Amino acid sequence: MSTDIAQIKIEKTQHSRINEVDFENIKFGREFSDHMFSMDYIDGAWRNLEIKPYQDLTFSPAMSALHYGQSIFEGLKAYRSGDKVLTFRAKDNFARMNRSAKRMCIPQIPEDLVMDALNTLLSLDKKWVPTGEQNSLYIRPFLFATDEYVGIKPSATYKFIIFTCPVGNYYSEPLRVKIETDYTRAIPGGVGEAKCAGNYAASLYPAKLAQEQGFHQLVWTDAKEHKYIEESGTMNIMFVIDGKLITPSLSGAILPGITRHSVLEIAKDWGMQVEERQVSVEEVVLAAQEGRLEEAFGAGTAATIAQIAEISHNDINYKLPAIESRKFSNKVYDFLNDFKRGREEDKWGWIETIK
Ligand SMILES: *Cc1c(COP(=O)(O)O)cnc(C)c1O
Repeated sequence: MSTDIAQIKIEKTQHSRINEVDFENIKFGREFSDHMFSMDYIDGAWRNLEIKPYQDLTFSPAMSALHYGQSIFEGLKAYRSGDKVLTFRAKDNFARMNRSAKRMCIPQIPEDLVMDALNTLLSLDKKWVPTGEQNSLYIRPFLFATDEYVGIKPSATYKFIIFTCPVGNYYSEPLRVKIETDYTRAIPGGVGEAKCAGNYAASLYPAKLAQEQGFHQLVWTDAKEHKYIEESGTMNIMFVIDGKLITPSLSGAILPGITRHSVLEIAKDWGMQVEERQVSVEEVVLAAQEGRLEEAFGAGTAATIAQIAEISHNDINYKLPAIESRKFSNKVYDFLNDFKRGREEDKWGWIETIK
């Protein structure tokens, strides 16, 4: 991995759009900050490192990412803490991006360099990090194949971009989810643990069918038998059963979430019993029937902790305990929110302050 120019060219916008944004009423993923970072992989090196005004791209109709799907992404957030801006575990996102890149035959990114690029971008667009406890700046790094070529082979050229969006809440209410037993998100040996665009393309149709039945999200199960729980939509899934925090172990078909990892570390630190293992649908349904399923929630950057209110399996709907009664997930939600805004001691070294 070689980098030609460690120098980032900066072109500032002449026309900030910040006054056009209604920060009291932010729509998730619809508003874009003034600047973006981009770089190109050409002749075996990352070149053209630049921060410039957020703008459209031009590309060939034969651009290979569009045809064959060599495209990966990340999602992380920056938070306002008084007049400071903080990021949470950004290095882990770029490390994961490199694991996704390897699986998709995409060249590695220089992690230190993209961290510098991100920090420079954030210091330039600092004003776009919204105030308010529910709000943050969503950061979207992505990387895709740009060869103008129709034919199956790894592209020789790529583009890497980071843009950012001020965001509010991802979900506005606790979720009704359906355990999916027909369709499959990912298979062992497949690309389920890579954060690649195609995983989402494949999930849209089953998710649409579930939405037509009144569910917000699916809970994916294993491809072979649909007996074991994997994850839920854009989130990992966790349960509290008999006082223990239980989550499916990373099987290769599950995205290794940074929120998931954080919640597990925090729970262990609090002395809670934590189990990462196969979690069968039967175990969860039985616990729900017997009133032992105390909590169920999704964990992911966009929603942080998303409470699951109802879980459905084979057309039977199980109502889960009242949200207020859920000691662990409410506590960890508040803790993470405080932690990401610099109000807790950073004992894991997860926070970076933007200069
Ligand atoms: C990104 C993602 C998650 C959550 O990962 P975080 O790092 O916690 O944001 C979970 N599942 C899938 C499928 C994802 O794409």
